[in-house]
Amino acid sequence: VSTRRLNRILEIDPDNMMITVEPGVIANDLNEHLKPYGLFYAGYPMSMETCYIGGNVAENAGGGKAVKYGVTSRYVLGLEVVLPNGTIVEMGGKLIKDVTGYNLVQLMVGSEGTLGIVTKVILKLLPRPKYQADLLCLFRSSEEAVAAVPKILTESGVMPASLEFMDRTGFLAACQYLNESLPCQDCGAMLLISVDGFEKEQVEKDYDKIGTYCQNAGASEIYVADNRADSERLWKIRRSVPEAFSLASKLQSGEDVVVPPTMIPMVAETFRQIAVKYGVAIPCYGHAGDGNLHARITPPADWDEEKWLRILPDILQELYAVVKSVGGRISGEHGIGHKRKDYMQCVLSPEYLELLRTIKKAFDPNNIMNPGKIFDC
Ligand SMILES: Cc1cc2nc3c(=O)[nH]c(=O)nc-3n(C[C@H](O)[C@H](O)[C@H](O)COP(=O)(O)OP(=O)(O)OC[C@H]3O[C@@H](n4cnc5c(N)ncnc54)[C@H](O)[C@@H]3O)c2cc1C
Repeated sequence: VSTRRLNRILEIDPDNMMITVEPGVIANDLNEHLKPYGLFYAGYPMSMETCYIGGNVAENAGGGKAVKYGVTSRYVLGLEVVLPNGTIVEMGGKLIKDVTGYNLVQLMVGSEGTLGIVTKVILKLLPRPKYQADLLCLFRSSEEAVAAVPKILTESGVMPASLEFMDRTGFLAACQYLNESLPCQDCGAMLLISVDGFEKEQVEKDYDKIGTYCQNAGASEIYVADNRADSERLWKIRRSVPEAFSLASKLQSGEDVVVPPTMIPMVAETFRQIAVKYGVAIPCYGHAGDGNLHARITPPADWDEEKWLRILPDILQELYAVVKSVGGRISGEHGIGHKRKDYMQCVLSPEYLELLRTIKKAFDPNNIMNPGKIFDC
């Protein structure tokens, strides 16, 4: 089933600050259409130029701004869904509050197309901040950079709109991929931090505060991008890390773990130790402010596929055990799909898994909706 041609913006309702769209609208196009209204949709992911609202809803996508604005689910107020038996059901509506029965809207969000097909989406909008500035803070090591993350959130007195982390490997791979060179090739890791707001002076004060804070936390250099061109240059590097990694090696496993944000330094350090133990590389990047680390497990060049497939499950078991030990989960935003279904038991109890299966069977007794995704049934 393709929903690509369901690509209309059905209604922009500026007074209620809501928009009704079909699932085939590209996430980025939404915000282009909203510009004249001074509104924006905040739930978009980093893949905004290529992904669709339907996919965002199905995956409960999170973006670079989730640390301040939250993920897709916060903005989905209503859905039209085609159920596996062909029934069309309206869920929720243009309502800020609604506790009339179970919250099926939020059950559908993140269900990975396993319960029904979304054919219409009502999204909450926000006033578009007028000013934004981005800080690129360079640290000597990943440890220093990730250690600063929870403290920036709790101690700087500013709520950043984004708090992204890239280690040296990710940053260099993206620069090479883009043929880009920034004067920071020698740093060990970096944080890309955005602040936004409606008053220029406030935004300036905020980035000053965060800059000073990062300096005290060990940042060796800080660059400020306070115009669109410079900002876009920095964000393009961050957005290109996954594609740059994908080109680097055929054998890889892209992980998407999520832990309480304060646990990021400990988890990143343990991943480093696991990498040493198995002789692989595990470069990390991601939405550090959300506790969401993307770790790219990459074997040495001389491993063949047979060896990789034999050893990868052991590495994943160890990685996920660390994640579980701090109350984390194996996917923060990319979902379970086929790839992670055998590992859900690493972090979820048998009772919880059984509840999930019961829900799937209630919606889709014949298992025709994305069969094999999330679980086999
Ligand atoms: C470079 C890059 C960067 C990324 N950055 C992020 C990021 O920052 N945050 C993030 O969360 N993800 C990110 N992703 C992952 C991905 O882009 C997101 O999960 C996105 O939300 C998927 O949207 P899509 O349109 O590509 O969906 P698809 O990949 O086409 O579909 C995803 C799933 O949703 C189901 N689905 C699609 N449409 C519907 C529908 N209408 N009804 C029911 N089910 C449906 C499909 O069957 C499939 O199972 C990134 C990916 C790449 C390649």
